[in-house]
Amino acid sequence: MPLRVAIVGSGPAGVYTAEALTKQATAPVEVDVIERLPTPYGLVRYGVAPDHTSIKSIAGYLRRVLELPGVRFLGGIEFGRDAGVGDLLACYDAVVYCTGAMVDRRMGIPGEDLPGSVAATDFVNWYCGHPDVPADRFVLDSPEVAVIGVGNVAVDVVRVLAKTAGELSATDVPEEVLARLADSQVKAIHMIGRRGPEHAKFTLKELRELGELTNADVCVRPDEAPVSGEPSALPRQVRGNVEVLQAWAARIPVGRPRRLDVRFWMRPVEILGDGRVEALRLERTRLEGGRVVGTGVFETLPVGMVLRSVGYQSVPLPGVPFSEATMTVPNEAGRVRDREYVAGWLKRGPTGVIGTNKSDAAETVRTLLADLDGREPAARADLVSLLAGRGVFPVTYRQWLSIEAAEAELARSLGRGERVKLPGLAAMLGAMTGGGDGAGPEG
Ligand code: NAP
Repeated sequence: MPLRVAIVGSGPAGVYTAEALTKQATAPVEVDVIERLPTPYGLVRYGVAPDHTSIKSIAGYLRRVLELPGVRFLGGIEFGRDAGVGDLLACYDAVVYCTGAMVDRRMGIPGEDLPGSVAATDFVNWYCGHPDVPADRFVLDSPEVAVIGVGNVAVDVVRVLAKTAGELSATDVPEEVLARLADSQVKAIHMIGRRGPEHAKFTLKELRELGELTNADVCVRPDEAPVSGEPSALPRQVRGNVEVLQAWAARIPVGRPRRLDVRFWMRPVEILGDGRVEALRLERTRLEGGRVVGTGVFETLPVGMVLRSVGYQSVPLPGVPFSEATMTVPNEAGRVRDREYVAGWLKRGPTGVIGTNKSDAAETVRTLLADLDGREPAARADLVSLLAGRGVFPVTYRQWLSIEAAEAELARSLGRGERVKLPGLAAMLGAMTGGGDGAGPEG
């Protein structure tokens, strides 16, 4: 009898876990990858910026894993609603939770809930065509916008705001989102770092892309660019960032339609507005014993939108242990409890690049296989039959392929790139053809 493993979540962590199981197991293994959406690939599909086509091409690698013999995609199944811990443990020898980090962190400042103050996660999901965020969610009607945080997500958001719709038309952004980007009134984008250039979290490659924008002048204030200490003593990646930022500080704007101000040593203290965001109050900062403290010097930006890009965090899964302190599932090398495991951002927090999840998943699978070594796989219930008894029918891999084909067809009909995301869940489900028998690529 093969070892049967359920993976909850079909993002990079989930699919790399499936791959590691097929590679590391010395006996036959069957893997079901369970996903809430009808579409696989998680953050690769709904988090990676649409113009980052080489990162998006990781989906091609993940696809080959889902098509491996013994691996099955079960879409449209929500953990905790359609099937819980007890159900999965009844149907599988082991369960691996790989649901990532789906929500944003908050800044905890007054005005954060005003209309116009939004989470980057929402905005990213919007331009990536995530079915949870309708295409009419955002109107870019403010001439000035602030993006809080200087990580790679902030850089993605800034780049999408700065580019022309023409530059994005060959990407997969939904047609209505593209129309809204074309109507954007945004002229000035302020990206705000609460510490200095040497502390920024973005990576050099991503930062350099901002300098290549043809539709926006990138500006850094000369008084905010210097770093404390000798730049040559900084780690290589950090030194690269600092050199780029210092070069920008010497640039003279050439009058491009948009302007990106990259700011440092400023922290948001209040979002102001009567019924909606009208301004952002910032305070100049310095470090005291490694802590960011305010200096009592304030500045107000007349922005109509504040996008907080201050990090993602995981959400607890029903019935699964969760630490509010680390916002992760407590684990030892991936082991949570008997027959329950975790991998990816839910295991270690939202850090690292997509590839980091590959070694992370491999560690979890090593733990899982060592734990189950010598244990005879038990005869267990079948999840698809159990779900059918509840009137729930998974989206099959073949049905997902028909959604993908509809996206390609839409792109062709619009004369846009390789694919265009369909607008919303109903359109995806409407595009599905083929049986709902829960089988893998052949199903
Ligand atoms: P991140 O790298 O952790 O950056 C978060 C930023 O928010 C930091 O600049 C942080 O400043 C700032 N911040 C946090 N709390 C704040 C507050 N209360 N007020 C003001 N600023 C605050 O998070 P991320 O950008 O969401 O990225 C998550 C992960 O995805 C990272 O590993 C990233 O590299 C990865 N990613 C990669 C790519 C890519 O490779 N192209 C694209 C997107 C995301 P402090 O440092 O001062 O805390």
